[in-house]
This record gives sequence, structure tokens and C-alpha cells, in this order.
Amino acid sequence: MSALRCASYYNATINQESNYPTLEDDIRVDIVVIGGGFTGVATALELAEKGYSVALLEANKIAWGATGRNGGQVTGSLSGDVAMTKQLRRHLGNDAEDYVWNLRWRGHDIIKNRVEKYCIDCDLKFGHIQTAYQPNHMQDLNAMFEEAQRRGMGEYMTLVEAKDMGAYLGSPLYHGGLVNRRNMHLHSVNLCLGEARAAESLGVQLFEHSAVLDIQEGERAKVMTAKGSVTANSVLIAGNAYHKLGRPKLRGMLFSASLGNCATAKLPDEIALQINPQDLAVYDCRFVLDYYRLTADKRLMFGGGTNYSGRDPKNVAAELRPSIERTFPQLKGVDIEFAWAGIAGIVINRIPQLGKISPNVFYCQGYSGHGVATSHIMAEIMAKAIDGQLHEFDLFAAMRHIRIPLNEWFGNQALALGMLYYTLRENWR
Ligand SMILES: Cc1cc2nc3c(=O)[nH]c(=O)nc-3n(C[C@H](O)[C@H](O)[C@H](O)COP(=O)(O)OP(=O)(O)OC[C@H]3O[C@@H](n4cnc5c(N)ncnc54)[C@H](O)[C@@H]3O)c2cc1C
Repeated sequence: MSALRCASYYNATINQESNYPTLEDDIRVDIVVIGGGFTGVATALELAEKGYSVALLEANKIAWGATGRNGGQVTGSLSGDVAMTKQLRRHLGNDAEDYVWNLRWRGHDIIKNRVEKYCIDCDLKFGHIQTAYQPNHMQDLNAMFEEAQRRGMGEYMTLVEAKDMGAYLGSPLYHGGLVNRRNMHLHSVNLCLGEARAAESLGVQLFEHSAVLDIQEGERAKVMTAKGSVTANSVLIAGNAYHKLGRPKLRGMLFSASLGNCATAKLPDEIALQINPQDLAVYDCRFVLDYYRLTADKRLMFGGGTNYSGRDPKNVAAELRPSIERTFPQLKGVDIEFAWAGIAGIVINRIPQLGKISPNVFYCQGYSGHGVATSHIMAEIMAKAIDGQLHEFDLFAAMRHIRIPLNEWFGNQALALGMLYYTLRENWR
């Protein structure tokens, strides 16, 4: 594992470590992408497939940010779907619901096709179960099941009653669940590094340890790093919650939530089979939820909790252990070998933020903790926009967002209060 990466399970199991140079020159390309997470790498790859010359600048290592720290769950639970549908009705009328429904699954197809096309080894598996933590959560799951059936996706879904949950999870916690076999789970760092290698094979120039310090706007924009610069026709800012570029336009729009994640020691086969016999990714229906799955080498990877202080939790393993042991009492005292945290970019109405800070400087950010699929969807939309196909970009750029203008600290406190409200309301339901 590189000392420059966090001590995560993913980073301990990388297939092929990246080793891109630092930018130490002044170069010219069609498009420069800032940020080497899913958003930046996937957009760079899409643009290279369209024939553009592209440079990608990453401040740390490829997949260093949220992309390299997440739960690896590829869900159809698009963040901001309800608010998005409401706003899209202004432009799409009654087609808004269908558009959002199809959008939900688009990232799955992009990832699946890309893994096949470029032979990316990232432990891709199918199958999720969303679990009812409280009895009344079954109403929500039932509604999702009915919608999937109505829209011809019933073959992927199974509604599970409480009495049958033992066939899916060895946990006493749940009141039922909804299995979705279209959703996927995977090794995020190996996916992102595989996409970076695919981009490189198409001519994308990738640079690590090359933080962008300034963007000089103009007909030909110039982005500056400590040791070099890139001049380009278009710029994409894809630094998500880890950057402060594009101020003042982007101030007060995106907020940081620190999320913890961990992986246990390898579990004996019989225990792995007992707790998760169908190898599903799992998440519950609460606002602040637990999410977990087995890794390829049969560890339990378990995430949950969140804080909006902008700082990482003090002791991720200690914070997550009670939830692990409540979920699976048979794992009491299990060794937690990896524990790490990451920052997700949260948008107040949860709708991804796509836009421009000047005619040729674009940004794309804010998937509110649901970014594995969504980043790939938005990357496709951004690459099309930079290629001049603006229809979908314009839909997102026209979305109304709440801005908290003073500074991000106030926004984070407001989000913390909001989270407290939802958590209390949930516990009183
Ligand atoms: C703990 C955790 C669990 C999660 N679990 C899931 C999950 O299971 N499923 C799901 O769908 N989503 C999940 N998410 C969310 C998902 O990981 C993110 O939405 C997604 O990875 C965002 O990708 P990104 O490329 O936009 O941002 P990031 O991956 O954060 O990448 C941004 C990159 O930009 C770089 N950068 C910043 N500033 C500069 C600069 N000035 N110059 C150059 N580079 C810069 C950073 O170093 C970083 O590498 C989770 C997030 C976290 C933190």
C-alpha cells in the first residue's frame, strides 16, 4: 500500500498501483479535468473516447478522495430524486418521472459495459437488499417493489417478509427487505484505477501530486499547479468536497459530511455464509443508515454514521463496532483490521450540481453519499456537454439550489441540525 493513500481495505488490495508523474511543464490540450475520482476519471475517459486530447490533474493519487473510501455499492437510489423530478416537470412535463426512473439505472450500464470493454478486474457482483429497520419501512419497500413491477423491472426484485429474512441475512434486526438484483457492488479503487488506465490507453495525460492552485479564465483557460500549467479550451472542476476552486461562484453550495467505513478480518467461510449467504450488499431504510457487504476475500465491510463537522471521526472502528455487533451478534469481538473515513459532498436538496463558473469552466459535484453510479451518469452528461450536446446538462444546470452564502461552516451546522431532526423524527415514527 502506498503511504500516500489512506489505510483502507481497498488500498491494501489494489491490483496495480498508479504511478503518474507530477506536472512539471506547460502543456496545451483540448480539455483539462481537475480531480481524479470517479467524476474526473470517467469524464476524461468519455472525452478521450470522443477523440479529444485531455489532461487530468489530481492533487493526491487517483481515487484518493471519496471514490477510494466508499462502500462500493452501486445503487439505483439516485440522490435528490424527488426534488429532481419536481423541478424537471418544468422542462419535461409528465415525462419527468420516466426520465428520472431511467437515470437511476444508467450508471449501472455505464459501469458494467466499461468493466467488460476494458477488462477491469474490480470484484463486480450483482445483488442488494434494502432492509426494513422498523416495521413501517415495509410500506416504503412495498411501494418501490410495486413501482419496479409497473415499470417492467419486476424480474430483478423480491420483496422479503420478516419471517423469510433468515435466507438472506443472519441478523435479528430486520422486519423484511427488498432484494434488487440489478444493483451491484465492487472494489471502488480497482474500478477507478482501471478506468484511469483505460483513459491513459486512449491518450489522456494523467498527473498525480499536481494540485490545481488557480484557474485563469479566458477563451483559452489556464490552470496552474505549483510546477506547471495546462492551457485548454474547456476546464472541468471535479474535486467534489475536497476542493475550494471556483470561488465565489461555488461558495455555500456544497457541504462536507464525514463518513466512516471499516473492514473486519477475513471471516471463516461458514460465518460469512451464515451472515450473508447470498453475498448481497445491504443498506437499511433509515436517514442515517448502516451499509455493508462482504469483500471478495470475505471480510465484512461496514459503514455508517455521519458527521457534518468537516472533520474525520476520532476512532472509526470504535464508533462502528456497536452497530456491527448489534447487526450480527455472532461477530462480537471480531477484529477490525481496516478503518478509515472519507468526505462526501452534500447538497441541501440532494440534486447533483452541474454548471459553469464561466463560459468554458464547468463543474460537476454533489451526489450526497450516492455517487458510485451517479458520478458515472454525470460524467457522461458532462462529456456530452463539453462536446456541445447540451440538452441534459442544461436540465441540471437549470436546477434551483439553496445556497448558504456566509461560509461552509454555517451550512454544515444547518445540515447537522437537519440530520438531527430527521433522526429524531424517524425514532418517533
Ligand atoms: C465513506 C463513504 C462511503 C460511501 N459509500 C458509497 C456507496 O456505497 N455508494 C455510493 O454510491 N456512494 C458512496 N459514497 C459517495 C461516493 O464515494 C462519492 O459520491 C463519489 O466517489 C464522488 O466522486 P468524485 O470523483 O466526485 O469525488 P472524489 O472521489 O472525492 O474525488 C475528488 C478528487 O479531487 C481531488 N482534488 C481536490 N481538489 C483538487 C485540486 N485543487 N487539484 C487537483 N485535484 C483536486 C481530490 O484529491 C480527490 O481525489 C460514499 C462516500 C464516502 C465518503
